[in-house]
Amino acid sequence: MKTLEQLMKNTPTDVVERSRQTNAEVIKPPQIVNKRGVKTVVFVVRCKAVTEKYFYDVIIELYPTEISKGVFLRPSLKSPAWVQCSCPFYLFNCEWTLAKAGSSEIKYSNGQPPRTTNPDQIPYLCKHLYKASPAVVKEAIKAGTKDERFDFV
Ligand SMILES: [Zn+2]
Repeated sequence: MKTLEQLMKNTPTDVVERSRQTNAEVIKPPQIVNKRGVKTVVFVVRCKAVTEKYFYDVIIELYPTEISKGVFLRPSLKSPAWVQCSCPFYLFNCEWTLAKAGSSEIKYSNGQPPRTTNPDQIPYLCKHLYKASPAVVKEAIKAGTKDERFDFV
């Protein structure tokens, strides 16, 4: 599983550029769930670029690297993450490589490697996920400082 920071660093510059015109809004309070036998904090985000008609559904799960007394300490861009977006770019460029890196699973694509759209098979983010990542980390830090800390007991 990759960290958000690794996935952001891998993201092509044109995608980073387009993310500047994208809005990301965390729409639900973060939830702690048990996924694949491990507890994680799940953020549900709604994203849309100014040029886009529709909102896309983004999910970002942060996995703790440090737990003390049942509390997820220091959530950051360095937290390992599992991500998903419902946009076409994600489907054609990102999903397979992210799933292969353990940071997503096949949901929207046909499960074939992106031979033409991402021939080097680099796990990176779409503009929505790129924009949402720091927003989600900010929410996680805010929750941690307001005593709504993620209780992992
Ligand atoms: Zn997207």
